[in-house]
Amino acid sequence: MALRNTVLEMTRTHWLEMLAEAWRAYPLEGCGLLIGEPGGDSVHRFVPIENEARSSRVYRLDGGQFARAAMDADDHGLDVIGVMHSHTHTAAYPSPTDVAEASMPLVPPHWHWVIVSLAWGYPELHSFRIAGQGIDEEQVLLLQ
Ligand SMILES: [Zn+2]
Repeated sequence: MALRNTVLEMTRTHWLEMLAEAWRAYPLEGCGLLIGEPGGDSVHRFVPIENEARSSRVYRLDGGQFARAAMDADDHGLDVIGVMHSHTHTAAYPSPTDVAEASMPLVPPHWHWVIVSLAWGYPELHSFRIAGQGIDEEQVLLLQ
């Protein structure tokens, strides 16, 4: 399935916050939420969320923290626009598990899927759109 071409905009601070969360959580997978204008492509805030799965192979966003972050975003006219998580052993590319989760009925199709890989000792951050079995990498535009 062809996805529309998009970019994900974030500041250098957001980018650093996501790398920092990946390292903080290591050797477990780290994760967090991207907050922005509803349906938007620009990160206003990154909110680290505990990995409830406490695993180096999978992540599950802590339900309570997710709900609080979503309510706080809503209070400011914002919404969850995507999810970041880290891969500790594999490339910054969606795993079959990631694709399956992105395709679940309750997951908004416009979400951005940011993956930070620490597999090679230095971090790599990439962002994707996932629809059905289709994976499209999108450009990450770093703002000042
Ligand atoms: Zn993953």
